[in-house]
Amino acid sequence: MTTNIITILGATGSIGSSTLDIIRHQSRLGHQWQIHALSGFSQLDKLFELCAEFHPNRVCVPSDKVDKFAHHLSSSGLDIDVVGGQAGLMDLASDEKSGKIIAGIVGSAGLRSTLTAVKAGKTVLLANKESLVMAGDLVMQTARTQKATILPIDSEHNAIFQCLPQAVQMDNVVIHQTDFGIKQLWLTASGGGFLYKSYVDMQNATVAQAVKHPNWNMGQKISIDSATMMNKGLELIEACHLFNLDESQIQIAIHPQSIVHSMVEYIDGSVLAQLGEPDMKTPIAHALAYPKRMSNGVKPLNLFEIGALEFICPDKDKFKALDLARAAAKAGNGACIALNASNEILVSAFLNHQIRLTDIADMVEKVLNDGELHTHFNTNFHNIDDILLFDERVRAKTHIYLKAM
Ligand code: NAD
Ligand code: MG
Repeated sequence: MTTNIITILGATGSIGSSTLDIIRHQSRLGHQWQIHALSGFSQLDKLFELCAEFHPNRVCVPSDKVDKFAHHLSSSGLDIDVVGGQAGLMDLASDEKSGKIIAGIVGSAGLRSTLTAVKAGKTVLLANKESLVMAGDLVMQTARTQKATILPIDSEHNAIFQCLPQAVQMDNVVIHQTDFGIKQLWLTASGGGFLYKSYVDMQNATVAQAVKHPNWNMGQKISIDSATMMNKGLELIEACHLFNLDESQIQIAIHPQSIVHSMVEYIDGSVLAQLGEPDMKTPIAHALAYPKRMSNGVKPLNLFEIGALEFICPDKDKFKALDLARAAAKAGNGACIALNASNEILVSAFLNHQIRLTDIADMVEKVLNDGELHTHFNTNFHNIDDILLFDERVRAKTHIYLKAM
């Protein structure tokens, strides 16, 4: 197994596309990366084109599309093994021929394959933050026992990773050793498209306005999460697990320019930051080449053009998702599952024009105050089936709240 063989789960999405752009750039420079496997859920035409361009050995599509897709490939002279559904994703995630797995599926759909890759001891380049929100202890514990490496490619977490001492990068459990003098982490947030708009503007936001992010070009779900700042809430929980810290050791600062991607504060007053253009190709290339570096075609940062960098304390009344996520992180694993599951349902409801943008956090709050669900909030679930069972219960409850609106 060589290290430049990769599998991209979620190849048709924004993270998948950024990864493949890096591979194209590397290829132009004469460095060949081999794509062992790709997956896609919708946009199968695009997945087909990627198969024709990159010639993976294996591909995963939804179960009911396997036969048609396999026929389409073979009739075009492409000899590619086609697998389907969650079982297919897990098969690819544990395939011994893959060196590095890009976990680029959106939402809870990415959990099983992420955990499978970790169980198989892979190097997992993790974009799918929802899997850590739902199952952070399980995923990180499994990574330790199976000697899997998790390299964060969410830009903030990648920035923090880059600002940590090398010994901590190699084993994040040592972050607690006082020798390293880590005081706290600073997660930066762009503030999304409504930072300078009123709460009423946010209430009246159309889907088109809400999915448009000022600095980043991303998939729909994360773009809505950025507009409500639930994305930063999910990232807070993600950071607690990745870096083995309590939520109280993680600050959130709005930084509208999205140039400082996050920071680590040390006890001697030093604050280390990672800066760069807001382009996911930087964290992805960092993780692909780690511990080396490689060129990725990203525009160089021109600080003179940018001129000023601002940092603002978030308005917690307007962006109440931040406090909801902190409360969930404090309450425990069950509460984080509830936060994530209800948010996924409500983001879809907003995208389907059923609710207003501000209803998302209001209804997540209702779910987090639900008496029946509440008893499980401090439960630490030790296996994936129990996690997904509770996730389903929360989804059903969220639908009840939605119907009652
Ligand atoms: P996206 O919507 O652009 O792409 C999602 C991918 O997942 C697609 O390939 C899609 O086919 C696949 N998918 C969707 N539903 C699926 C299902 N039920 N089963 C199997 N596959 C499914 O999303 P994205 O913006 O690329 O985000 C992917 C993940 O990366 C998310 O967890 C997001 O939070 C995280 N992330 C994204 C960015 C970014 O810049 N886009 C930045 C940081 C983190
Ligand atoms: Mg991020």
